[in-house]
Amino acid sequence: MQPATVKFTKNDLAKYPFLKEAAEYVKTLELKIEDLANPELSKILERAKERIEEAILYTIVTRRTQNEEIEILSFPTATMLAAATENSFIKRRYALAEAKQTYNDLKLEPKEKILAIAENFGCRIFTLNAEEIVTPYEFKIHFTDYLKNVANLRDKKWKLVNRSLIQGNVYLTKNETARLLSEEVRRHIEKRLEIGDLPKMPQRIAETAEALKTLTLEKVSKTEVEGIPKTIRQEAFPPCITALYEAAQKGRHIPHIARFTLTSFLVNIGVPVESIIDLFRASSDFNERLTRYQVEHIAGERGSRTRYKPPKCQTLKTHGICVNSVELCKAVSHPLGFYKRHSGLKILR
Ligand code: SF4
Repeated sequence: MQPATVKFTKNDLAKYPFLKEAAEYVKTLELKIEDLANPELSKILERAKERIEEAILYTIVTRRTQNEEIEILSFPTATMLAAATENSFIKRRYALAEAKQTYNDLKLEPKEKILAIAENFGCRIFTLNAEEIVTPYEFKIHFTDYLKNVANLRDKKWKLVNRSLIQGNVYLTKNETARLLSEEVRRHIEKRLEIGDLPKMPQRIAETAEALKTLTLEKVSKTEVEGIPKTIRQEAFPPCITALYEAAQKGRHIPHIARFTLTSFLVNIGVPVESIIDLFRASSDFNERLTRYQVEHIAGERGSRTRYKPPKCQTLKTHGICVNSVELCKAVSHPLGFYKRHSGLKILR
Protein backbone atom coordinates (compact mmCIF):
# COMPACT_ATOMS: atom_id res chain seq x y z
CA MET A 1 0.00 0.00 0.00
CA GLN A 2 1.35 3.40 -0.98
CA PRO A 3 1.26 6.30 1.50
CA ALA A 4 -2.29 7.63 1.60
CA THR A 5 -3.03 11.31 1.18
CA VAL A 6 -3.93 12.51 4.65
CA LYS A 7 -4.86 16.08 5.31
CA PHE A 8 -3.39 17.02 8.67
CA THR A 9 -5.80 18.84 10.97
CA LYS A 10 -4.74 21.72 13.21
CA ASN A 11 -4.84 19.27 16.11
CA ASP A 12 -2.38 17.02 14.23
CA LEU A 13 -0.05 19.98 13.73
CA ALA A 14 -0.25 20.73 17.46
CA LYS A 15 0.68 17.11 18.20
CA TYR A 16 3.34 16.91 15.50
CA PRO A 17 4.61 20.51 15.20
CA PHE A 18 7.77 19.38 13.38
CA LEU A 19 5.76 18.52 10.23
CA LYS A 20 6.34 20.58 7.08
CA GLU A 21 2.69 21.65 7.17
CA ALA A 22 3.16 23.07 10.69
CA ALA A 23 6.19 25.07 9.53
CA GLU A 24 4.15 26.41 6.59
CA TYR A 25 1.34 27.37 8.94
CA VAL A 26 3.77 29.26 11.19
CA LYS A 27 5.17 31.07 8.14
CA THR A 28 1.73 32.38 7.21
CA LEU A 29 1.51 34.18 10.58
CA GLU A 30 4.61 36.26 9.72
CA LEU A 31 5.84 36.44 13.30
CA LYS A 32 9.26 37.87 13.96
CA ILE A 33 11.62 36.88 16.73
CA GLU A 34 11.22 40.30 18.41
CA ASP A 35 7.45 39.74 18.60
CA LEU A 36 7.99 36.98 21.15
CA ALA A 37 9.13 39.52 23.71
CA ASN A 38 5.74 41.18 23.32
CA PRO A 39 3.63 40.55 26.47
CA GLU A 40 0.60 39.70 24.29
CA LEU A 41 2.47 36.72 22.92
CA SER A 42 3.95 35.75 26.25
CA LYS A 43 1.92 32.53 26.37
CA ILE A 44 3.93 31.19 23.43
CA LEU A 45 7.23 31.88 25.14
CA GLU A 46 5.93 30.46 28.42
CA ARG A 47 4.85 27.24 26.74
CA ALA A 48 8.16 27.03 24.85
CA LYS A 49 10.02 27.37 28.13
CA GLU A 50 7.77 24.73 29.70
CA ARG A 51 8.54 22.32 26.83
CA ILE A 52 12.25 22.56 27.55
CA GLU A 53 11.85 22.45 31.33
CA GLU A 54 9.90 19.21 31.02
CA ALA A 55 12.58 17.84 28.72
CA ILE A 56 15.35 18.71 31.20
CA LEU A 57 13.51 17.35 34.23
CA TYR A 58 11.55 14.38 32.87
CA THR A 59 12.81 13.74 29.30
CA ILE A 60 9.31 14.16 27.89
CA VAL A 61 7.23 17.00 26.43
CA THR A 62 3.61 16.34 27.31
CA ARG A 63 1.15 17.55 24.72
CA ARG A 64 -1.21 20.40 25.60
CA THR A 65 -3.42 20.53 22.55
CA GLN A 66 -6.28 22.55 24.10
CA ASN A 67 -4.79 25.68 22.58
CA GLU A 68 -3.56 24.38 19.23
CA GLU A 69 -2.22 27.73 18.04
CA ILE A 70 0.04 28.14 21.08
CA GLU A 71 1.14 24.53 20.87
CA ILE A 72 2.15 24.88 17.20
CA LEU A 73 3.93 28.21 17.69
CA SER A 74 5.68 27.16 20.87
CA PHE A 75 7.58 24.43 19.03
CA PRO A 76 9.74 26.65 16.78
CA THR A 77 10.08 29.01 19.73
CA ALA A 78 11.31 26.17 21.95
CA THR A 79 13.73 25.09 19.24
CA MET A 80 15.11 28.61 19.09
CA LEU A 81 15.29 28.80 22.90
CA ALA A 82 17.13 25.48 23.13
CA ALA A 83 19.56 26.68 20.46
CA ALA A 84 19.99 29.97 22.36
CA THR A 85 21.18 28.08 25.46
CA GLU A 86 24.15 26.86 23.36
CA ASN A 87 24.17 23.93 25.76
CA SER A 88 24.61 20.62 23.99
CA PHE A 89 22.96 18.65 26.82
CA ILE A 90 19.79 20.79 26.66
CA LYS A 91 19.67 20.52 22.86
CA ARG A 92 20.11 16.75 22.87
CA ARG A 93 17.65 16.30 25.72
CA TYR A 94 15.01 18.48 24.09
CA ALA A 95 15.17 16.58 20.80
CA LEU A 96 14.95 13.28 22.68
CA ALA A 97 11.99 14.43 24.80
CA GLU A 98 9.96 15.57 21.76
CA ALA A 99 10.77 12.26 20.07
CA LYS A 100 9.62 10.29 23.11
CA GLN A 101 6.23 11.99 23.18
CA THR A 102 5.90 11.50 19.44
CA TYR A 103 6.44 7.78 19.97
CA ASN A 104 3.64 7.73 22.59
CA ASP A 105 1.28 9.55 20.22
CA LEU A 106 2.14 7.62 17.07
CA LYS A 107 1.39 4.27 18.68
CA LEU A 108 -2.25 5.34 18.90
CA GLU A 109 -2.60 6.69 15.35
CA PRO A 110 -4.30 4.92 12.44
CA LYS A 111 -2.00 3.42 9.82
CA GLU A 112 -2.75 6.12 7.24
CA LYS A 113 -1.55 8.87 9.52
CA ILE A 114 1.62 6.99 10.41
CA LEU A 115 2.32 6.61 6.67
CA ALA A 116 1.67 10.29 6.03
CA ILE A 117 4.06 11.32 8.81
CA ALA A 118 6.72 8.92 7.50
CA GLU A 119 6.27 10.44 4.04
CA ASN A 120 6.81 13.90 5.55
CA PHE A 121 10.32 12.77 6.44
CA GLY A 122 10.88 10.99 3.13
CA CYS A 123 11.04 7.73 5.08
CA ARG A 124 10.02 4.72 2.97
CA ILE A 125 7.52 2.98 5.24
CA PHE A 126 4.57 1.07 3.79
CA THR A 127 1.76 -1.09 5.12
CA LEU A 128 1.84 -4.78 4.22
CA ASN A 129 -0.34 -6.08 1.41
CA ALA A 130 -2.90 -8.76 2.30
CA GLU A 131 -0.64 -11.52 0.92
CA GLU A 132 2.39 -10.19 2.87
CA ILE A 133 0.76 -10.02 6.29
CA VAL A 134 2.52 -12.16 8.86
CA THR A 135 1.48 -11.61 12.48
CA PRO A 136 2.52 -9.47 14.35
CA TYR A 137 3.85 -7.28 11.50
CA GLU A 138 1.81 -4.47 9.95
CA PHE A 139 4.43 -2.32 8.22
CA LYS A 140 7.62 -2.64 6.23
CA ILE A 141 10.47 -0.17 5.82
CA HIS A 142 13.20 0.00 3.21
CA PHE A 143 16.30 -1.47 4.84
CA THR A 144 18.45 1.65 4.24
CA ASP A 145 15.90 3.76 6.13
CA TYR A 146 15.80 1.04 8.75
CA LEU A 147 19.57 1.13 9.29
CA LYS A 148 19.57 4.93 9.49
CA ASN A 149 17.00 4.88 12.27
CA VAL A 150 18.33 2.02 14.39
CA ALA A 151 21.86 3.44 14.58
CA ASN A 152 21.20 4.65 18.14
CA LEU A 153 19.08 1.75 19.35
CA ARG A 154 20.96 -0.69 21.56
CA ASP A 155 18.50 -3.54 22.03
CA LYS A 156 19.50 -6.74 20.23
CA LYS A 157 16.11 -6.99 18.57
CA TRP A 158 17.03 -4.10 16.26
CA LYS A 159 20.06 -5.85 14.79
CA LEU A 160 19.39 -6.56 11.14
CA VAL A 161 20.24 -10.26 11.60
CA ASN A 162 17.39 -10.55 14.07
CA ARG A 163 14.80 -9.04 11.68
CA SER A 164 12.53 -10.38 8.96
CA LEU A 165 14.05 -8.89 5.82
CA ILE A 166 12.09 -9.60 2.65
CA GLN A 167 12.95 -8.12 -0.76
CA GLY A 168 14.88 -5.23 0.72
CA ASN A 169 12.26 -4.34 3.32
CA VAL A 170 12.32 -4.95 7.07
CA TYR A 171 8.99 -5.98 8.59
CA LEU A 172 7.80 -4.00 11.59
CA THR A 173 5.02 -4.04 14.18
CA LYS A 174 3.09 -0.83 14.71
CA ASN A 175 5.00 0.00 17.91
CA GLU A 176 8.32 -0.58 16.17
CA THR A 177 7.26 1.68 13.32
CA ALA A 178 6.37 4.40 15.83
CA ARG A 179 9.74 3.92 17.52
CA LEU A 180 11.70 4.26 14.26
CA LEU A 181 9.72 7.31 13.23
CA SER A 182 10.44 8.88 16.61
CA GLU A 183 14.13 8.49 15.77
CA GLU A 184 13.48 10.45 12.54
CA VAL A 185 11.94 13.16 14.71
CA ARG A 186 14.88 13.21 17.12
CA ARG A 187 17.40 13.57 14.30
CA HIS A 188 15.27 16.19 12.56
CA ILE A 189 15.08 18.35 15.71
CA GLU A 190 18.78 17.88 16.50
CA LYS A 191 19.55 19.10 12.99
CA ARG A 192 17.36 22.17 13.46
CA LEU A 193 19.26 22.91 16.66
CA GLU A 194 22.60 23.02 14.87
CA ILE A 195 22.18 26.67 13.98
CA GLY A 196 25.57 28.14 13.14
CA ASP A 197 25.20 31.86 13.79
CA LEU A 198 22.38 32.66 16.13
CA PRO A 199 20.61 35.99 15.60
CA LYS A 200 20.82 38.45 18.50
CA MET A 201 18.08 37.43 20.92
CA PRO A 202 15.72 39.92 22.58
CA GLN A 203 16.57 40.30 26.28
CA ARG A 204 13.57 38.31 27.50
CA ILE A 205 14.54 35.30 25.40
CA ALA A 206 18.19 35.50 26.40
CA GLU A 207 17.10 35.59 30.06
CA THR A 208 14.84 32.56 29.57
CA ALA A 209 17.71 30.65 27.97
CA GLU A 210 19.91 31.51 30.99
CA ALA A 211 17.17 30.30 33.38
CA LEU A 212 17.08 26.96 31.53
CA LYS A 213 20.83 26.58 31.88
CA THR A 214 20.59 27.28 35.62
CA LEU A 215 17.81 24.69 35.94
CA THR A 216 20.06 22.12 34.25
CA LEU A 217 22.96 22.88 36.59
CA GLU A 218 20.71 22.54 39.62
CA LYS A 219 18.72 19.47 38.67
CA VAL A 220 20.80 17.30 36.37
CA SER A 221 23.84 15.35 37.51
CA LYS A 222 27.24 16.14 36.05
CA THR A 223 27.58 12.71 34.45
CA GLU A 224 24.30 13.10 32.63
CA VAL A 225 25.24 16.56 31.38
CA GLU A 226 28.81 15.82 30.42
CA GLY A 227 28.48 12.13 29.65
CA ILE A 228 31.46 9.89 29.94
CA PRO A 229 34.75 11.62 28.98
CA LYS A 230 35.38 11.67 25.24
CA THR A 231 38.35 9.32 25.36
CA ILE A 232 36.09 6.67 26.90
CA ARG A 233 34.16 4.68 24.33
CA GLN A 234 30.86 3.68 25.83
CA GLU A 235 29.94 1.68 22.74
CA ALA A 236 32.94 -0.55 23.50
CA PHE A 237 31.62 -1.57 26.94
CA PRO A 238 31.01 -5.30 27.26
CA PRO A 239 27.30 -6.20 27.46
CA CYS A 240 27.46 -6.96 31.20
CA ILE A 241 28.80 -3.45 31.93
CA THR A 242 26.34 -1.79 29.54
CA ALA A 243 23.47 -3.46 31.42
CA LEU A 244 24.83 -2.32 34.82
CA TYR A 245 25.57 1.18 33.55
CA GLU A 246 22.04 1.60 32.20
CA ALA A 247 20.56 0.21 35.42
CA ALA A 248 22.56 2.78 37.42
CA GLN A 249 21.44 5.61 35.12
CA LYS A 250 17.82 4.58 35.67
CA GLY A 251 18.30 4.47 39.45
CA ARG A 252 17.60 0.73 39.67
CA HIS A 253 18.84 -1.19 42.68
CA ILE A 254 22.23 -2.78 41.93
CA PRO A 255 23.49 -5.54 44.25
CA HIS A 256 26.84 -5.05 45.95
CA ILE A 257 28.95 -7.28 43.67
CA ALA A 258 27.43 -5.69 40.55
CA ARG A 259 28.11 -2.22 41.92
CA PHE A 260 31.70 -3.19 42.64
CA THR A 261 32.04 -4.58 39.09
CA LEU A 262 30.67 -1.43 37.47
CA THR A 263 32.68 0.96 39.66
CA SER A 264 35.98 -0.91 39.28
CA PHE A 265 35.46 -1.21 35.51
CA LEU A 266 34.84 2.54 35.15
CA VAL A 267 37.76 3.42 37.42
CA ASN A 268 40.10 1.26 35.35
CA ILE A 269 39.15 2.80 32.03
CA GLY A 270 39.71 6.30 33.41
CA VAL A 271 36.27 7.64 34.33
CA PRO A 272 36.78 10.29 37.07
CA VAL A 273 35.60 9.45 40.58
CA GLU A 274 33.17 12.41 40.58
CA SER A 275 31.48 11.15 37.40
CA ILE A 276 31.08 7.68 38.89
CA ILE A 277 29.54 9.10 42.06
CA ASP A 278 27.15 11.14 39.91
CA LEU A 279 26.17 8.00 38.03
CA PHE A 280 24.74 6.51 41.24
CA ARG A 281 22.81 9.65 42.15
CA ALA A 282 19.63 8.47 40.40
CA SER A 283 19.24 5.66 42.94
CA SER A 284 16.50 6.30 45.54
CA ASP A 285 18.81 5.13 48.37
CA PHE A 286 21.76 7.24 47.17
CA ASN A 287 24.02 8.25 50.04
CA GLU A 288 26.75 10.62 48.86
CA ARG A 289 29.11 10.05 51.79
CA LEU A 290 28.94 6.26 51.56
CA THR A 291 29.12 6.21 47.74
CA ARG A 292 32.14 8.50 47.76
CA TYR A 293 33.86 6.33 50.34
CA GLN A 294 33.23 3.15 48.28
CA VAL A 295 34.20 4.65 44.92
CA GLU A 296 37.37 6.29 46.27
CA HIS A 297 38.29 3.05 48.00
CA ILE A 298 37.90 1.04 44.77
CA ALA A 299 39.82 3.75 42.88
CA GLY A 300 42.73 3.36 45.33
CA GLU A 301 42.38 6.85 46.73
CA ARG A 302 41.81 5.56 50.28
CA GLY A 303 42.97 2.77 52.56
CA SER A 304 45.37 0.31 50.95
CA ARG A 305 45.81 2.60 47.91
CA THR A 306 45.13 -0.38 45.65
CA ARG A 307 43.04 0.23 42.55
CA TYR A 308 40.73 -2.78 42.35
CA LYS A 309 39.96 -4.59 39.10
CA PRO A 310 36.53 -5.99 38.25
CA PRO A 311 36.06 -9.76 38.69
CA LYS A 312 36.76 -12.12 35.78
CA CYS A 313 33.99 -13.26 33.44
CA GLN A 314 33.89 -16.65 35.14
CA THR A 315 33.11 -15.03 38.50
CA LEU A 316 30.57 -12.70 36.91
CA LYS A 317 28.83 -15.69 35.33
CA THR A 318 28.52 -17.34 38.76
CA HIS A 319 26.87 -14.19 40.13
CA GLY A 320 24.48 -13.80 37.19
CA ILE A 321 26.10 -10.54 36.07
CA CYS A 322 27.21 -11.90 32.70
CA VAL A 323 24.24 -10.99 30.50
CA ASN A 324 23.65 -10.56 26.76
CA SER A 325 27.11 -11.98 25.94
CA VAL A 326 28.16 -11.58 22.31
CA GLU A 327 30.62 -13.29 19.96
CA LEU A 328 33.59 -11.21 21.16
CA CYS A 329 32.97 -12.45 24.72
CA LYS A 330 34.20 -15.91 23.65
CA ALA A 331 37.64 -14.46 23.02
CA VAL A 332 38.03 -12.74 26.40
CA SER A 333 38.08 -13.78 30.03
CA HIS A 334 37.67 -10.35 31.56
CA PRO A 335 35.36 -7.33 30.93
CA LEU A 336 38.42 -5.07 30.68
CA GLY A 337 39.84 -7.39 28.02
CA PHE A 338 36.64 -6.99 26.06
CA TYR A 339 36.86 -3.19 26.29
CA LYS A 340 40.51 -3.13 25.34
CA ARG A 341 39.96 -5.22 22.22
CA HIS A 342 36.81 -3.42 21.20
CA SER A 343 37.97 0.15 21.77
CA GLY A 344 41.66 -0.07 20.99
CA LEU A 345 42.08 2.22 24.04
CA LYS A 346 44.49 1.68 26.88
CA ILE A 347 43.41 0.40 30.27
CA LEU A 348 44.94 2.28 33.21
CA ARG A 349 47.76 0.48 34.99
S1 SF4 B 1 31.53 -12.86 28.87
FE1 SF4 B 1 32.55 -11.46 30.23
S2 SF4 B 1 32.61 -9.53 29.11
FE2 SF4 B 1 31.12 -10.79 28.08
S3 SF4 B 1 29.18 -10.20 29.04
FE3 SF4 B 1 29.95 -11.96 30.16
S4 SF4 B 1 31.07 -11.14 31.86
FE4 SF4 B 1 30.80 -9.48 30.39
